[in-house]
Amino acid sequence: MKHEAVSPPAPWPEGGDAPDGGDAAKSGAEIGQVAGPGADPSTVAIIDILNIMEQGIVFWSASGRCELHNSRIFKVLELTAQDLAIGMTHEAFRERTLARGDTGADTDAYLAAQIAVHQPYSFDRTLPSGRVVFTNGRPTRGGGYVVTFTDVTDARRAAQDLDRAKRQAEEAQDRAVGLLDQERARQAEAKMLSQLDEWLQSCKSLSELYNVVTHFMVTLLPASKGELYVYSNSRDALDGICNWNTTDLHDSIEADSCWALRRGRAYEFRPDVLCFACEHVAAHEHRIPVEEYICVPIVAHGDTVGLLHIRFDTGAEGAARIADKGPFAVRCAEHISMAIANVRLRDELHERAIRDSLTGLYNRRWFMEALRRDLAQAERRGAPLALVAFDVDDFKGFNDQHGHDAGDLVLRAVADRMGEVVGHRGTCCRTGGEEFAILLPDFDRRAASHLAEVLREAVSASQVRHLDRLLPRITVSCGIAVFPEDATIGQVLMRLADEALYRAKSEGRNCVRLVSA
Ligand code: GH3
Ligand code: MG
Ligand code: MG
Repeated sequence: MKHEAVSPPAPWPEGGDAPDGGDAAKSGAEIGQVAGPGADPSTVAIIDILNIMEQGIVFWSASGRCELHNSRIFKVLELTAQDLAIGMTHEAFRERTLARGDTGADTDAYLAAQIAVHQPYSFDRTLPSGRVVFTNGRPTRGGGYVVTFTDVTDARRAAQDLDRAKRQAEEAQDRAVGLLDQERARQAEAKMLSQLDEWLQSCKSLSELYNVVTHFMVTLLPASKGELYVYSNSRDALDGICNWNTTDLHDSIEADSCWALRRGRAYEFRPDVLCFACEHVAAHEHRIPVEEYICVPIVAHGDTVGLLHIRFDTGAEGAARIADKGPFAVRCAEHISMAIANVRLRDELHERAIRDSLTGLYNRRWFMEALRRDLAQAERRGAPLALVAFDVDDFKGFNDQHGHDAGDLVLRAVADRMGEVVGHRGTCCRTGGEEFAILLPDFDRRAASHLAEVLREAVSASQVRHLDRLLPRITVSCGIAVFPEDATIGQVLMRLADEALYRAKSEGRNCVRLVSA
C-alpha cells in the first residue's frame, strides 16, 4: 500500500498511439507534469486502469528508460521508490534486480540478447520473498518495450506440486510394480519349490530322486545348465550322477577340485570379478570357464553328501544371472539336500528294519515279504520259484563247546558263503537263530538242489578263525520246496521245505532233501 502511495503518477506519452512514443530526453518530472493536474483526461483514465490491474506494468522507451509504470508494480516486484522511477534506465533496473537475485546470470544474458535484437522475452523471476513473477516483455513498434509482471507463485507452486505428486505417484507405482514382480517371482519360485518337494518326497529311491532333480532343474532354472555329484561310498571322490541342459558330466571329481567343497559353503564364480575357477570346471577340456557358475555343497543332516554345480550362460539372451538366480539356486540345493537326506535316512531305517544285524542278511520279516512278492511274480510269469531252508547241524553243541562268540562268527561265515553261492540270483535270509532260507526265482527242483549242494559243500569246506585258533568245520542240512510243483501257497511251501529239512536232519544231517513225492 505504501508503494502505491509513493508511486508517481505515470504519464502517457504525448501524441502517437504507442506508449513508447516518447523519447529518452523526457525526464520523469516532465512526464509527471504531463500526467499531472490538467493532463489529458484520457491519459489519466489509462493510468487509472493500469493502476487497478493485477499485474505490474512498465514501459521502456526506445532509449531504454522508464517512461511509464503503474503503481501495482511496486507490490508485485517488491520494489521501493529507489528501485524504479520514471527516467531510470532499464540497465540500472536490471542490475538492481540481478543483484537482488531475482534472476540468474543466464536469464539476464538471455534478456540482453533478446533486447539487442528487439525480440519478445519471457521468464520467471524469483523475488527475495520466494514469490515467483512471470515477466513478459513485448517490443513496441517504436523500439521500446512494454513489460508486464504477473505473480504466478501459486500457479507455479501448484504446477510444481502437481509435478512432484506425479513424480512421486510414478515412483510409487514403479516401486509397487517392482515389488509385485518380485512377489510374483517369489511366489512362482515357492510354488515350484513346493512342487519339487512334493515330487522329491514321493521318491522311493535315490535314483528316482536324481531323475526328478534333473527334470525339475530344467524348469526351475531354465536358463541354466548343471551337474549333480554325490560322494562315492569310499568318500574319496564324487561320482557324476545327473546333469541338465548340458552333456558335461565328469564320471568323478576330486573333492579338492571344488572351492565350495573346500570352503564348506556355496561358491560363486564370475569371470568379471577376481576369483578363481574350480579345477573341476576348468577340467572340461572344451570349455574355458567364461560363464558364471555357482557350486553348492549338498549337505544332509550336517554331512556333506554331494555337490550341485550350476552354470549361467551370460552370453545368451535372457540368460539368468547369479545376481538374481544365485540365491534361488542355493534354495534349490537346500531342498535337494533335504530330500537326499530323507531318502538316505528312510533307506537306512528300512535297511535296519529288514536286515539282520549279525549277518547282514534279510531278516524273517523281509523273507515273508519277499516270499509273497516272488510268489506273485512267479505266478504272473508262469515261472518256478524254489525255497531252500537250511539249519546248522548240532549248533547247540558247537556253542556249548566254543562259546557264543565263536558261534556268531560261524553264522557270519555261513552268510558269506550264501552270498557267494547265490549272488544276485536269489534272496538270502536269516529266518531264525541258526536257520536260513533262500528264495530262488526261476529255479526248479533240479537247479535248486544243485545250488543247495554247492552251498552245503562250501559251508562244510569253510573254516573260521577265532582267537588265534581255527574252529572246527560245521555243516548244514537243507530242505527244498518248489512252486508250483510242491505247493502254490507260501505257508504251505514253507511247511514243506521245513519238513524236507527235518528229513535231512533225520537222515544223517549235512545233506539236501527235496519234498518227497
Ligand atoms: P540240529 O542239528 O538238530 O539243528 O541241532 P541244534 O543243536 O542246532 O539244534 P537247535 O535248533 O536245538 O539249536 C539251535 C541252537 O542255535 C540254540 C542256540 O544256542 C543257537 N543259536 C541260536 N541263535 C544263535 C545266535 O545268534 N548265535 C549263536 N552263537 N548261537 C545261536
Ligand atoms: Mg534250529
Ligand atoms: Mg540246528
